[in-house]
This record gives sequence, structure tokens and C-alpha cells, in this order.
Amino acid sequence: MKRFLFSLFCISLFVSCNSTKETPVLNTLKPHTSPYNSTSNYWQQHVNYKMEIDMDVNTYQYKGKQTLVYTNNSPDVLNNVFYHLYFNAFQPGSEMDVRSLTIADPDPRVGDRISKLQPNEIGYIKVNSLKQNGTSINYETVGTVLEVDLATPIKPGDSVTFTMDFDGQVPLQIRRSGRNNKEGVALSMTQWYPKLAEYDFEGWHADPYIGREFHGVWGDFDVKLTIDKNYTVGGTGYLQNPNEIGHGYETTEVKPVKGDKLTWHFKAPNVHDFTWAADSDYIHDTAQVPNGPLLHFFYKNTLSNETKDLWKKMQPKAVELMQYFSEHIGTYPYKQYSIIQGGDGGMEYAMCTLITGNRSYGSLVGVTAHEMAHTWFQFLLATNEAKHEWMDEGFTSYISGWAMNDIFERNNPNPSANAYRGYIYLANSGKEQPLTTHADRYMYNEAYGISAYSKGQVFMAQLGYVIGKDNLKKTIKQYFKDWAFKHPTPNDFIRVAEKVSGLELDWYLTDFAQTTNTIDYAVTSVDEKTITLERKGLMPMPIDLKVIYNDGTTENFYIPLQMMRGEKPTSATKIKDWAWAYPTYSFETKKSVKNVQIDPSGLMADVNQTNNKI
Ligand SMILES: [Zn+2]
Repeated sequence: MKRFLFSLFCISLFVSCNSTKETPVLNTLKPHTSPYNSTSNYWQQHVNYKMEIDMDVNTYQYKGKQTLVYTNNSPDVLNNVFYHLYFNAFQPGSEMDVRSLTIADPDPRVGDRISKLQPNEIGYIKVNSLKQNGTSINYETVGTVLEVDLATPIKPGDSVTFTMDFDGQVPLQIRRSGRNNKEGVALSMTQWYPKLAEYDFEGWHADPYIGREFHGVWGDFDVKLTIDKNYTVGGTGYLQNPNEIGHGYETTEVKPVKGDKLTWHFKAPNVHDFTWAADSDYIHDTAQVPNGPLLHFFYKNTLSNETKDLWKKMQPKAVELMQYFSEHIGTYPYKQYSIIQGGDGGMEYAMCTLITGNRSYGSLVGVTAHEMAHTWFQFLLATNEAKHEWMDEGFTSYISGWAMNDIFERNNPNPSANAYRGYIYLANSGKEQPLTTHADRYMYNEAYGISAYSKGQVFMAQLGYVIGKDNLKKTIKQYFKDWAFKHPTPNDFIRVAEKVSGLELDWYLTDFAQTTNTIDYAVTSVDEKTITLERKGLMPMPIDLKVIYNDGTTENFYIPLQMMRGEKPTSATKIKDWAWAYPTYSFETKKSVKNVQIDPSGLMADVNQTNNKI
């Protein structure tokens, strides 16, 4: 998701599928193993959804039948299961409504709008019946969560089949999903079906839907969607019947179908979500990524001619972005990716994104870069977004910033500079909460936003300072190899970085991501050939130091942090370790010193830069 930073810090970022008969490339969809892999005790649950949906585009109501085969790969016996009913958030008095009405800085897209929804404008999912292996079971809808008592416990290794009938109503577009968004897109269908909550090593994650964000179960989807035949549908999954459907998906002449509706049949292998959008006025273009997926673009014909031209102009850049992320993180594993006008800004989903379409060229490419990068950072590397929002937004912002920098040849040595400014502002504001804070539990939306996007981005960029840029690049690729199609945690990421770099890094994760300790190092004195530094902040760091001598020559020094038990690769002069508890550190140079500067790269997030040089 990308939003609030557009106006604040992300000015430079402008912010911030004919698949068909094709079957999934299953061999690329399997988790990898490697010498770095420490996932041998790892397990995850599995879902296999079949859904038949009948949508009425006049009432925005739909009927659904869902068959869900759930496999318990955990070592635990399960007596309950939980489903998310996200659309129930869009009702007056819901937790999302009340939170928006009571937080000091509400999301302007939500504001008091939920409180004013009329009965025919609210969202809902009503479960009419639910069976476990054919036996009716007890369930209760509690806000946005369905609590289910099982008829028979699910033992480790067992699979059960849940069958459900439900009715849904698509809310007026408020946040992410809904009907008739501000640009007139009819249906943005995200988080629209009864979605089983994830059970992992931390237990159930049946979080209510208050604002943000998601954590889903990996599995396979088979969805048949029946809808007015004038509507074009884009989203997750490979269309199985393109030559019945047409709408730009056909490979041969389309056979006419009787009646007012078409049934679209999608299959999506190894995903943890299923999204679609539909409109009667979509233009549908495609662009092939060489040796990669087919990109689909859906945007409204009612956009101005100038804006429609921008959607065309953006398409080759989307191809380059897909190539960039595949090269720098890991190969995109599906055969299709869709960029769809819809939603309320930009939000990432399985094999697709929904973005608003009425944008400048820079904004259109920038939001596409960000949302497409989420395919790796959160979708494939499926961290729990509610708990580790910074690994989702921050890592995405880091890599999309580099992608924009490289593709547009901006030659900025630090594309994360705005994120540093944002983080340092927050750290000095008194509003910062640690990155371990649940995404819904920040005091201020602003603090959430800067923490998740900016501090998370700084975490990654600054790790490059700590372990060296090449080690960071290797870490990102190894992280993907080890953890794609799983649910990695912060510790999993830092362990990869430790193994790649050979350095001890638990202190970095602890101080930067689990506390609000800050970095503040100072140059306190220069006396002829003696330089004295001071650690004023609580957080430790290794120090890069640039020294200019009185004879005009310069020398770079590297002061290793003792608790790292090693050094990053560097051409600088390595001097003695600095052990954290000592507040000051002095050393002698060979020549008389004129100027000293801590971290000339600006990659260390020192919250007080005024004392960094003499
Ligand atoms: Zn995002």
C-alpha cells in the first residue's frame, strides 16, 4: 500500500494476462533450498479454494459458494478456525469506523464516511451455511471475523473440507475495495470473500480489520465468476476460458454466448489472496516481458486522451520494472501480472495491483514500481503485514526507489535519502513507537506511515552501510531463495544477512527494529593528530570516518563495532574496534588533521547530524 508519504517525503518518487490455456509453471513455484537455508523446521498451513460467484452489477450484491480444503501442517490439534469477513468493516459502528473517528489524524479517505453509509451502500459478507466434511458446524460472526467451532478437531497432517454459502454486498468505495471509486471504476474486489485466517508458529492471526493489513494462507484458487457480459475483468489467476470470454483475452475468434452474463473461470496456483476488478469501460492492453510474464493493463476509456497516452507510455517501463525486480531480487514466478485502474491509491495483490489511474507520468510509473515491487516484498516473501509492516512497505520502498533511480538513470547515490529525512524527523518528534508495534496500534497514522515506509526503508539501506553494498545485494537475493512462498520473520531476514556477511547482526535488528533507540555519534575534538569521537545515542554502529589532513590529502577510516565480531569489506584504513559501552573513542593519525566527518555517505541514520564533523 502506498499513500500518505506522497505529500510528505516522497516527492522524488512522485509519491511517495492472456493466460489462458497456460498452466502454471509449477517447478518455479516450489520453495528453494540452499546452503543458507535454515527453514528445516518450518511449516505452513495450506488452502485449496473453489468458489462460484454470481455478481449482480446493479445491486452490487453477490452470492457465493465456497469449498475450502484446509490442510493442517502444524504440529497442533485445531479445535477452532477463523475466517476474515473484511467487507463487514464498511458498516457504521465497525471498528474501522470508530478508529477513524477517534484517531487524531484519520486517513482522509476514510474520515467519517463509513459512519454515513446507508444500508444499500454498506459492505457485508453474510454466511448462510457452513459445513465441515458435510456436517453443519457452529459459527458466529463477530465484526469482521467469523468464529467457528469445529465438529471434529483437525489433527496434525489432516485435511478437512469446509463448504459455505454466503451473500455479499460490495460497499461504496471507502478504503482499498468497493464499488464506484472516485474515478468511476465499478468494482474493486479485494478482500471480498470469506478468507481463512492464518495459523502459524505464533498461533491464530484472526485480526479484526481496523485499517491494516493482511496475512494469508498459501494455497490454490479456482474461481468461477459470473457477471454481466459487458464487464471486463482483470485480477489474480489465469483465465481458463479466454475464447468464450473475449474482452482482449481471446486467442481465436470468440464464440458468442447466450444470455446477459459470462462465467469467467480463473485458476491461481500458490498464492495467498485472490483479487479482481471489473468495469464495463476498461481498455485492455498487454505487453510481453521477454522471458517473463505477460503484463496486462486495464484502464478506463473515460480517462482523458492525454492520460490514456500516459498509460500507453508507461507500459514499456512496466516491462523494465519487472525485469529489474526479477534480476535484483529473484525471478517472478507466475506467467501473468496485471496493472489495473481501481481502488483508492495503490495496493498490491496476487499477480496484480490496483492503482488509481488519473496521474502524471512520473506518478503512474512511480506507483507501478512500488506496487509491483510488493510482489516480492510481502507477496512472495509473505511477512505478516500487521506485525512487520516495515518489512513490507520499507523493503518495497527501498527496492522500488533503486529501480526508479536506475531505470530513469538519475544517478542518485542514495535513493533512500528522503526516507532518512522522514525517519530522522519522526525520531526527533517524540511520536515514534518501535517497529514491533502492531500496524493498527500506532498512536498516529503519521507515525505508522513514517515507521513502516521510511524507517523500514532506512533499515535496509543502512544495512548496506553496516555489511557493505555487495553483501546487501547478496542478502536480498538469498532471502528470496530461502523464503519465497513462505512467511519470513525479521529474525529470518537478519539471519540471512548474518550468514551472507559472516557478521553478527542481532544487535542491529534489536536496536533499530525493536526499540526507539537512536544513533548519534559526534566528533568531539581534533587535537593535531588525535581525533576523539563520542557515542551520544544508545544504538551502536560501526563508523566510517573521512579525515582531511592539513596537507590537503584525505584518508578514510573504518572503526569496527566490536559486537559485530568482524568487519565489512572496505578499502578504508581499519583501526581498532569500538566496544559499545565506552562512550568515547580516540585514535592517532599519521598527519595533522584539518577536518573530520562521520559517515560521508549519509547512510547511517544519525539523528543529530550537527555534531558529525569538525
Ligand atoms: Zn506499499
